[in-house]
Amino acid sequence: MDNAAALVVFSGGQDSATCLAWALEHFQSVSTLGYRYGQRHEVELDCRQRVRTAIRRLNPAWDARLAGDSLLDIGLFAQLHNTSLTSQMAIADREDGLPNTFVPGRNLLFLTMAAAWAYDRGIRHLVTGVCETDSSGYPDCRDDAMKAMQVALNIGMAADFVIHTPLMWIDKAATWQLAHALGGQALVEVILEESHTCYLGDRSKRHVWGYGCGQCPACRLRAAGYAAYLEQGPSPSRHAPERSNA
Ligand code: ZN
Repeated sequence: MDNAAALVVFSGGQDSATCLAWALEHFQSVSTLGYRYGQRHEVELDCRQRVRTAIRRLNPAWDARLAGDSLLDIGLFAQLHNTSLTSQMAIADREDGLPNTFVPGRNLLFLTMAAAWAYDRGIRHLVTGVCETDSSGYPDCRDDAMKAMQVALNIGMAADFVIHTPLMWIDKAATWQLAHALGGQALVEVILEESHTCYLGDRSKRHVWGYGCGQCPACRLRAAGYAAYLEQGPSPSRHAPERSNA
C-alpha cells in the first residue's frame, strides 16, 4: 500500500474540484477517476479536464503531484435507471420524498469501481465529495453509508482502503471557504469558472457563482452557497498561491 497516493472520484463539479485541491495538499500522488454513465449532458466531462489543467497551473507542488486521469464508461446505468440525470424527465420530487435526481446505487457503484480501479495500482486512499450537511437528501451521500462502504470494500477485497470525505460536515458556503483556505482566491476563481454543477448542462450564462441555468436544484444550491460565502467573507488562506498582478 502506498500511503502517499490517493484517488479522487472526480466529476468536474464544485465539490469534487475542491476535493481534488484537498487531496493535492495531503498526498504526494493524486489520480482522478470519472464516469460516463449516460449523463444527459457531456459538458461536465469537458469541465473535468479544464479543472485539472487550471488547478495544476496554480501551484508547482500540485502540478508535480497530479497524476493521471481515467474515465470509465458505465453506460449500463441507462439500462438500470430512468432518472432525470440520465433521461429527459423533468426534475421533481419522487413519491418517497427523494428528488428524482437521486440515482439509486450511483455513489455506491462509483466507490466500488474506484476501489477496484485503485486496488491493482496500490492506491488505498479514496477521496469523494459527498456531503451530508447540504446534500439533496441522497442516502448514499451520508456518513454512515460511506463508513459501511469502507468496511464492505475492505472485507470484500481483503484490503485497507480509507474513504476520505472532506466535505461531509460542511455546507456549500464552507466548501468555498475550504477552497479559499487551500488555494486562495485563485482556486476560488478556477472553481467558479471551470467547474460544472447545473443538472441541465447549461453553460450559456455566467453568473457571479459560475455557469448554469440558475433554476435547477443544483444551481440554486450553488448560488445560495456562494452568496453565503460572500457574506461571511473568505477565511484566511493557508497557502494563498494568489495570482500576482504585479
Ligand atoms: Zn441548473
